[in-house]
Amino acid sequence: MKYLLVEDESGMSKFIVQGITEVGHVIDCAADGEVGLSFALSYEYDAIILDLMLPKMDGLQLLAEYRLQGGKSPVLLLTARGEVEDRVNGLDAGADDYLAKPFAFQELMARIRALQRRPPLQNGANLAIGDLEMALASHQVRRGSKLIDLSVREFSLLEMFLRHPNQVLSRTQIAQNVWNFDFYSDTNVVDVYVGYLRRKLDDGFDTSLIQTIRGIGYKLGLEE
Ligand code: CA
Repeated sequence: MKYLLVEDESGMSKFIVQGITEVGHVIDCAADGEVGLSFALSYEYDAIILDLMLPKMDGLQLLAEYRLQGGKSPVLLLTARGEVEDRVNGLDAGADDYLAKPFAFQELMARIRALQRRPPLQNGANLAIGDLEMALASHQVRRGSKLIDLSVREFSLLEMFLRHPNQVLSRTQIAQNVWNFDFYSDTNVVDVYVGYLRRKLDDGFDTSLIQTIRGIGYKLGLEE
């Protein structure tokens, strides 16, 4: 795997470069936004790790310009903890995920791996069933006129359901797809997350979109 890191703080930069190199990947480094953009547009990266606050060109400008020029690599934003506006603006500008500083290296790698499992960004592509709609590029989910705020994992889970509408999905299928578990694992995690997702989707609506299929798993569809 080859990654690009755009980060001006040398301590943070060393920490990330060292960690990624140690697990056997290649990483290019840029310490300001202009160099970062030129690297991003010149080479193919499996993922771009992008700090928001950068000299010369900030992370949001870089990201917007990169997407505008057709850049398709997944982008993970590094943000300050608690800056909700940064995260929203970042996702709107075409970031795929974000991670608040400070973070553990394991968490960074987990996020990067998750980005690689996603289908490539397709601008304008929507998935929908009934009154539920998901915009893949902007990561927005709506039911009717209501905007629904989902965590990254809930979003992946819903995306899987929307790609297999009206099909019964087993807990194991869901676990493998959304969490990439390639071993037998405790599928209670699936039940818990389906519970979270169901509450968010159905809150304020009369019909439930996710049905439990006893002893098997779940199905996304309109109730008969
Ligand atoms: Ca910075």
